[in-house]
Amino acid sequence: MSPAEGAEDPRLEQLVDGIVRLAAGELNARIEPSDQRDAIDAVITGVNLLAEELGHIYTDLEERVAARTAMLRRTQVKLEHMAKTDALTGLANRTLLNERIQDAIRTETENGNAPAVLILDLDSFKAVNDTLGHSAGDAVLVEVSRRLRSVVRATDTVARLGGDEFAALITGASADEVMLIAHRACEALQDRVDIGPETVWTTASIGICLRGPGYSAEELMRDADIAMYHAKARGRNTVQLFHPEMLNAVQERARITAELRTAAASGQLALYYQPVVELASGRVAGVEALVRWHHPVHGTIMPDSFIGIAEETGLILDLGRWVLREGIAQLGRWKREAPQLADFRLHINLSAAELLRSDLLDDLNETLARNDIEPSRLVLEITESVLMSRRTGEQQVLEKIRALGVGLQIDDFGTGYSSISYLRELPADTVKVDHSLIKNLETDPRQQKFVSAILQLISAAELEAIVEGIETAEQAERLQAMGCLYGQGYYYGRPVPAAEIPNRVNGAGPRR
Ligand code: C2E
Ligand code: CA
Ligand code: CA
Repeated sequence: MSPAEGAEDPRLEQLVDGIVRLAAGELNARIEPSDQRDAIDAVITGVNLLAEELGHIYTDLEERVAARTAMLRRTQVKLEHMAKTDALTGLANRTLLNERIQDAIRTETENGNAPAVLILDLDSFKAVNDTLGHSAGDAVLVEVSRRLRSVVRATDTVARLGGDEFAALITGASADEVMLIAHRACEALQDRVDIGPETVWTTASIGICLRGPGYSAEELMRDADIAMYHAKARGRNTVQLFHPEMLNAVQERARITAELRTAAASGQLALYYQPVVELASGRVAGVEALVRWHHPVHGTIMPDSFIGIAEETGLILDLGRWVLREGIAQLGRWKREAPQLADFRLHINLSAAELLRSDLLDDLNETLARNDIEPSRLVLEITESVLMSRRTGEQQVLEKIRALGVGLQIDDFGTGYSSISYLRELPADTVKVDHSLIKNLETDPRQQKFVSAILQLISAAELEAIVEGIETAEQAERLQAMGCLYGQGYYYGRPVPAAEIPNRVNGAGPRR
């Protein structure tokens, strides 16, 4: 019997205490065995071994958790990097550029120079993709990004915005330095790019926005973009600095677009009619319909200020539909109310896009029938560039229009290119010689010869000529002497509202 018989063995208390500490997470806790080396000591040693083992497992676990956490962090950084860079070129993308611009706006530079944004668009890059394929296109983009990086400083950010559009953020540089960087970029891009056996030449249009304090990242980007479009319009391979007037022009266009959308429905559009006159007799053979926009605030707006915008935005389709219906309806009213206009012809201007309007032919047919108008009394004026284009879609529509019996007239003849050789093949029956050709008719003998030759050419192609923009009696006489049959211009009458046309036809002869 051990001496402690009957009483509690103190080692049991130590043992319980040790186990409690281990259970509480104190894995370093050990229980001291006694000299007795009995069963209790065996348990103590066992518990100590277990504690040792637990300690190992625990350390191992901690290491593995640390490794996993580090891996997760690396993946997260990689993902963030991927989300902010362009996969093809490794450049910053729009998101990262935007962050950097915001940082640059927040942190004043030492020399107080405001950040500048360049937006750069490659000229005719599509041709590279189309002719050499997309992998060649990609190679060009990679080379372009390399060259761009080489012209900016390490602290600047070069980004690819998508497609063939790039941007750069330049910080701490003066206006002159920014311009210099832009020009260096232009130059660097002009160098040949070799792609296997092929050589590609690229150029870029660059817009720059350099603005003082209080300018947001969005505004910098927006205005650099506007400047870039101006650079493109100026003939590519150019650098254009943003000016505030450019923004006004864009906003003005946006306003016109929005208001034009509802102009027809709210009765703000009107057609004016300008007489087409037979030169020999002074008889009015017809009228050309010219659209006017009676704006509630800005007064009458002339078509040159909105037809271009309507063409760019596609609004021309609705506008053209309205012009066609209104013009033909007016012809119907004249037919009923003004018998002297019985064989009158109505000329209507048609934009290129309208030729591809799917319901154009149906619309023509129905509107003519509804107003009881013979197709031959309608002439569609189409600019020569459209007629020259040999695109099959347009060509087929032109032929169908002629098959309806509607007349086709080449408008603005002499302002485009190389019309001469195609003149005979064009599906038209009349040609309107542009007013710019008769400007100096009275004073310039060479111009007289030129116009005379053009009129002969038109007649040789078995087409009828109309000359527009006749402003003086002398011009009228000369043109008549050259054998021109029809004319149009302020000398014979300005465009006027429909109500004035019957009067105008009764009182023959030129009017100023
Ligand atoms: P356009 O078809 O060449 O029309 C002739 C333009 O010259 C008209 O300008 C007319 O008012 C003007 N004009 C007429 N006689 C004279 C003259 O003796 N001297 C001078 N200097 N100008 C003269 P407007 O009405 O401002 O129309 C401008 C252009 O807008 C038209 O040029 C035409 O291309 C386009 N346009 C007008 N109405 C329509 C339309 O309904 N649809 C489409 N698609 N375009 C239209
Ligand atoms: Ca015209
Ligand atoms: Ca014209």
